[in-house]
Amino acid sequence: MATITIRDVQTFLVQTGGPGARFVVVKVLTSEPGLYGLGCATFTQRYAAVVGALKHHVIPFVLGKDVLRSEELFQMNLVQGYWRNGPVLNNAISGIDQALWDIKGKLANMPVYDLLGGKCREGAAVYTHADGRDPQEVLENVQKFREQGYRYVRIQMGGYGGKQDSLPKPESAPGGAYFDPRAYTRNMLRMMEYVREHVGGEVELLHDVHERLSPIDTVKFAKDVEPFNLFFLEDSLAPEDIEYFRMIRQQCATPIAMGELLNNPREWRLMIEERLVDFLRMHVSQMGGITAARNAALHAQIYGIRTAWHGPGDTSPVGHAANLHLDLWAPNFGIQEWCRFDSLVYDMFPGLPVVRNGYMYPSDKPGLGIDFDETLAAKYPVKDEVDWWTQTRLPDGSPTRP
Ligand code: MG
Repeated sequence: MATITIRDVQTFLVQTGGPGARFVVVKVLTSEPGLYGLGCATFTQRYAAVVGALKHHVIPFVLGKDVLRSEELFQMNLVQGYWRNGPVLNNAISGIDQALWDIKGKLANMPVYDLLGGKCREGAAVYTHADGRDPQEVLENVQKFREQGYRYVRIQMGGYGGKQDSLPKPESAPGGAYFDPRAYTRNMLRMMEYVREHVGGEVELLHDVHERLSPIDTVKFAKDVEPFNLFFLEDSLAPEDIEYFRMIRQQCATPIAMGELLNNPREWRLMIEERLVDFLRMHVSQMGGITAARNAALHAQIYGIRTAWHGPGDTSPVGHAANLHLDLWAPNFGIQEWCRFDSLVYDMFPGLPVVRNGYMYPSDKPGLGIDFDETLAAKYPVKDEVDWWTQTRLPDGSPTRP
């Protein structure tokens, strides 16, 4: 077979909702007429920086290269900038990497899960998000999703960090998304107790701390939620505090999930090899794409750790398709996060995975099985807006992690 090369790479910015849903889609065109691949490079808060990294640094390097050599291109892209790692560069690398897996699948006339080793399961179990203003409303939303067939539901109350009606701020306190970590833990325990009491033991409940607590408060919280039998407690610690997971492990058996903020194998190696977490949930485009995620999944499998790739509304539909192919293949798949896209997104991305009765299924097309309507997408350009919810503040007004 004659070598097929990368002829052009296009980038698309699409925003179908608020500032938390600005997608970066990469299209790799090849020397074979009509053959192209799609990849997700979505870093929704810094989308223009990813496009710049692609345009000036990654695309000039990959043009003319053999489309089948995705491993070599991935490895060289990691290092050819000399200074390396980080969400901007890794997302740019992922856009190319995922598109090359898509192309490889189209050439082989196989879905990507078959290239990885074939399916271990027919559908991927998903969890979705329930929120509410009070425990009763959270419960109502959990029950609504139960009726739709979801068996796993993440429960929050008042968004990340919880909403407090009034906080004692100092005079002249600046604007921002204020929260009180101590009130948050009290309110969440009250909510979890109420929901668990009413749904019984069969619904799997999850919760995302979103790194809102101090390390020692996190240790206490992980112990306090143990009676509610969570499927997992997510991002209870920040990446810079990973060593505190040792303390949680010594004191309770709450299952721990972590990873969406991680960029590099050195950041998840400790968590895997010391068995500090139960679920790896990296953002596949942020770690560099399918190649990086495949490697992490296999590393985790040796240690009995399962996958739970990040799958919120700020992963593009192409990224959700990539997640699903990894899920269907991975022997150590755990659960997949799912954000329930509306019909506009399905129209824009034909072949977007579907969820029925709590399981996610791919299209029957080769590669990633997803396409992209560029004409429709052009009607939904991104807007340069400053995110409000990420301007998080403690009660005294000091900035903290969102
Ligand atoms: Mg999360």
